[in-house]
Amino acid sequence: MNTLYIVVPCYNEKEVLHETAKRLKEKLSSLVAKDIISKESRILFVNDGSKDNTWEIIQDLHQKDEVFCGLCLSRNRGHQNALLAGLMTAKDYADIVISMDADLQDDINAVDAMIEKYQQGADIVYGVRSSREKDTFFKRNTALGFYKFMELLGADTVYNHADYRLMSKRALEGLAEFNEVNLFLRGLVPMVGYKSDIVTYERGERFAGESKYPLKKMISFAIDGITSLSIKPITLITRLGVIIFLVSLVMLIYTIIRHFTGHTITGWSSLIISIWMLGGLQLFAIGVIGEYIGKIYMESKHRPRYIIAEKLIK
Ligand code: UDP
Ligand code: MG
Repeated sequence: MNTLYIVVPCYNEKEVLHETAKRLKEKLSSLVAKDIISKESRILFVNDGSKDNTWEIIQDLHQKDEVFCGLCLSRNRGHQNALLAGLMTAKDYADIVISMDADLQDDINAVDAMIEKYQQGADIVYGVRSSREKDTFFKRNTALGFYKFMELLGADTVYNHADYRLMSKRALEGLAEFNEVNLFLRGLVPMVGYKSDIVTYERGERFAGESKYPLKKMISFAIDGITSLSIKPITLITRLGVIIFLVSLVMLIYTIIRHFTGHTITGWSSLIISIWMLGGLQLFAIGVIGEYIGKIYMESKHRPRYIIAEKLIK
């Protein structure tokens, strides 16, 4: 029978952890009772350097019931790295691993359907949100804009899928082969290949605590996603450069004609506009190239993506 591990990254989640643990345990027990998964199945909480007592809660849960396991990172490394740490640890114990957020915004009842798709032969099952009605207006629209933009740039991501997904052992072993430091898991997982499927569910509200993804983190996550999956921005900038060069040729001819017809002093406005526009475009272009160079720099260091300080698995 298959052993299931549910991996949950946690950063300052003391408000939700008890309730999450309770609901996940209920889910797991019902699956064990129906003989869908083995008794060795576990819930693995990854403490991502929380500043509150999240880790103490996890330790306590583990002590009372060994169905709860814990992983403590040496410091806060961000959602993606914490998730990877959990997945890479769980793959050594489990046949199937499901990842989800600690706030249970992702409907845990979709787990049954995910396992069913796995039994039908899918190695990766993506949880896809059917609607975002429960998200704030702002979150919904920024997220939508992001997916559209990614699509435009040719990055292969699953629409409206976050990090709620099932992966088989061999899919995780495939993922382990990707050594990049700039992690954007929902872009990497489709690159692993194998047969995949989707399960749709409705995304609820965070039932306690506040979002650990403020606007600043969301923007840097989006830039990370774009620059680690596609080099299209650089191509676009090159094209823009060519177009601007062509325009400047036209401007050159125009300026010469104006000069010989004696209208030179009137060119002030166009001159100022060109200076500002070109200056802006150049800075933007340098910035984009800088993003990529920064990525190369980080990759070339081969720094560890996470360091596990403590492991509670029985
Ligand atoms: N998270 C994490 N490290 C961080 C930030 C967030 O492990 O630095 C976890 C967090 O505990 C939660 C998940 O990532 O389980 C998603 O975060 P959140 O629900 O706050 O994001 P939102 O749903 O608002 O996008
Ligand atoms: Mg959330």
